[in-house]
Amino acid sequence: KVRVRFAPSPTGGLHLGGVRTVLYNYLFARHHGGDFVLRIEDTDQTRFVEGAEEYIVNTLEWCGMTPDESPQRGGPYAPYRQSERKPMYRQYAQQLVDQGHAYYAFDTPEDLEKMRHDLKTTENPMPQYDGKTRMSMRNSLSLSKEETDALIANGTPYVVRIKMPQNETVIFHDMIRGEISFDTNISDDKVLLKADGMPTYHLAVVVDDYSMKITHAFRGEEWLPSAPVHLLLWRYLGWENDMPEWAHLPLILKPDGNGKLSKRDGDRLGFPVFAMDWTDPKSGEVTTGFRERGFLPEAFVNLLAMLGWNDGTNQEIFSMDELIEKFSIDRVHKGGAKFDFEKAKWFNHQYIQLMETRKLTSLAIPFIETHGVKVENDAHLQEIVELIKERCSVLSEFWDQGHFFFERPEIKELPAIQDKWNEAKKAFFESWANTLSNLDVFNQVAIEQSFNDALQQNGLKKGDAMLPFRIMLVGGKYGPGVFHIAELIGKEETIGRIYATLA
Ligand code: GLU
Repeated sequence: KVRVRFAPSPTGGLHLGGVRTVLYNYLFARHHGGDFVLRIEDTDQTRFVEGAEEYIVNTLEWCGMTPDESPQRGGPYAPYRQSERKPMYRQYAQQLVDQGHAYYAFDTPEDLEKMRHDLKTTENPMPQYDGKTRMSMRNSLSLSKEETDALIANGTPYVVRIKMPQNETVIFHDMIRGEISFDTNISDDKVLLKADGMPTYHLAVVVDDYSMKITHAFRGEEWLPSAPVHLLLWRYLGWENDMPEWAHLPLILKPDGNGKLSKRDGDRLGFPVFAMDWTDPKSGEVTTGFRERGFLPEAFVNLLAMLGWNDGTNQEIFSMDELIEKFSIDRVHKGGAKFDFEKAKWFNHQYIQLMETRKLTSLAIPFIETHGVKVENDAHLQEIVELIKERCSVLSEFWDQGHFFFERPEIKELPAIQDKWNEAKKAFFESWANTLSNLDVFNQVAIEQSFNDALQQNGLKKGDAMLPFRIMLVGGKYGPGVFHIAELIGKEETIGRIYATLA
C-alpha cells in the first residue's frame, strides 16, 4: 500500500514550496488510494519554534489536505513527533557503531573550530569532519579502544557520526531525475546522534521512514545532497529492500528565475510567500500569508499544483478531485518553476468568478468588515458582490472595488470635476437631485431615464455629466455601472452625495 509523508521541521511559517510538497504527497497518496502521514521532525531543539506545528496543521486543514495519520489524529505508527520517539533511535546508532559504519566523537565545539582553522589548506579551504580529517580528531577511530571506553565511562559527552566511505560512488534512482550518482568523498561524516541523545534529522528520517513503512518520499530538491547519506544508512541498517522510492521536487524560483524564492523576495516585491499569516513568537513580527491576502484555498492549491506540473494539455484550472485523478510524478518537471504573482492572482480571479454567490459573499465579509463597517450576507450584499467580483482577483479587493457601497467616499477627484465645472452643470445636478427625490421606483432603469430627461431639459449631453456623477458616488473614476451603483446605495444616499459635492 502506498504510504507517503510530509515531514516538516516546526521552525516557522510554511513557505509555498513547502505547501506544494504537501500537495504532491497528498495527490499521489489519494491517486493511489494510499495513506498520507504528517510527521513532525522536531529533533533539533535549537530550531524549534513555538506554534509552528499548529500553524502547519492549520495550513493543511485550510488547503483541504488533512493527513490520515498525524500527531493530532494518531495512527498505527504513533507517536508522530520525533521528539517523542527519542528512545527508538539510539539502538540504531549503536548498531551502526558496532558494525563499523559509525563512530563516537568526543570533540568539543572549540576542537571543531580549531580543526577548521588548523587544517585549512589551499587545497582544502573549508575542512570538514570527514575521511581526510577525522583521524586527527578525538573519536573512537583515532583513539584506542581503552581510551574510548574510558571517555565514555567517565561521562564525556559524545556524538555518533557516520563513517562516510572513501572513494565510493553511491547510485540511486529518483522518480523525477532518473539515476543520480554521488561521490562519497564530498559528504562529511554527518552527526547521527547528538550529545543529548537526540538523533539528527539524517538518522531520524531513515529510521522513521522505515518504521512507518513509507513507500515514496517526496521532498524538496534542497535535500538532494543528503540523499547519499540516507541511502547508505538504509543499506547499513539492512533495510535497503524497504527503501522508499525518491522524488526530489524542483525548486520554486524567484520571479526572474534567479535562485530560490524566499520570504524576503515576497517582502521586497509585495506578495506573500507563506500560506497563512505567520506571527514570529519572539519578535511578534507578522508575515502575511496567501489566506489573509484574500486567496481561496481551492485557487491556492490549483496554482501550486501548476508550479512544476501539468497534465500534458493546456488545461490550467483543476479542482482537487481532478488533480487527484490526473496527477502523476512523471509529469513533474525537473527544472525549477518561476513564481509569478500576477499569474497566481489570475488563478484566484478565476475561482472568484466560479464561486457560488452566497459562499463568496461570506468569504468577502471579513475583508469588508476589517475596515470598520458591519455588513450582512443578504440579497443586497450579494448583489454588490456579484456586481464587482469581475474586478476582484483577491478577496481584499472587494473593499477596494466596493468601499463606496459601505461608506461615503472621500472625493479625491473633486478638482477633476471642478476644472470643467460651470454653472450649467451645477444647475443640472441641483434640479436633477430634486427630481430624484420624487422618484417612486428607485432602480437603475428609472434613474437613468430621469438622468436623460434632466439632461435634455438642461441642454446638456451625457458626456457632460456622467463622469461627475460617478465621482460623486464613488470618489474616483472607476467602478461598475453608475446607475446600478446609485440603485444599490439607495435614493437618500445618492441625493446626499450629490448635494455634498455641490456644497
Ligand atoms: N524535516 C525535513 C524538512 O524540514 C524533511 C525532509 C524530508 O522530507 O526528508 O524539510
